[in-house]
Amino acid sequence: MLLTTHILIGGAIGQAVGNAPLGFALGAVSHFALDAIPHFDPGIWSDVTKESGENIWDKKIWAFVAVDLLATLGLLIVLLPQSLSLPFIAGALGGASVDLIDNVPFWQRKIHQTRIGKQIGKFHNSLHFVKKEILRKNAMALLVVQVVIIGLIFWLIEL
Ligand SMILES: [Zn+2]
Repeated sequence: MLLTTHILIGGAIGQAVGNAPLGFALGAVSHFALDAIPHFDPGIWSDVTKESGENIWDKKIWAFVAVDLLATLGLLIVLLPQSLSLPFIAGALGGASVDLIDNVPFWQRKIHQTRIGKQIGKFHNSLHFVKKEILRKNAMALLVVQVVIIGLIFWLIEL
C-alpha cells in the first residue's frame, strides 16, 4: 500500500481507540492486513524479490515514493489543526513503521542483517500480496481504488 494509506488508516485507528501505545500497535497490525490485499504500490515495478534481501529503486519508483511522501505531508498539514492528537500520530507512525523499518534502501541491508530485522522482513514479505503480473495489469484501477479509500478515510477523520 502507499505510505499515505498506511499513515491515514493507522492514524484513524489510533484516533478511534484514543490510546497512543495501543494505536501504534494496531497501526502496525493494520499495515500487515492492508499489504495482504491486492493493491498498488511502487514495488510492483520492482523485480527484486525479498529473497535477495534488498529492494532496488529505479527512477520511476523514486519519483512515485516522492509523490507519496509529498501527499502524506500535505494531508498531515491539512489535518494538523483538527485531528492530530497523540493517538492519531502514534497510529500513523505504527502504520508507517513496517515500511520504514523494512523497505527503505538506505538502511534496509543493515536492518536485514539483524535478527529482528530479518524476522520483520520475512513476516512482512510473507503477508504481502506479491502476484506482480496481476498487480501490473491492473495498476491504474488499483491506484484509483486506493485513492478513493484514502478519500473515504480522510473524510472519516474529518468527522
Ligand atoms: Zn508494507
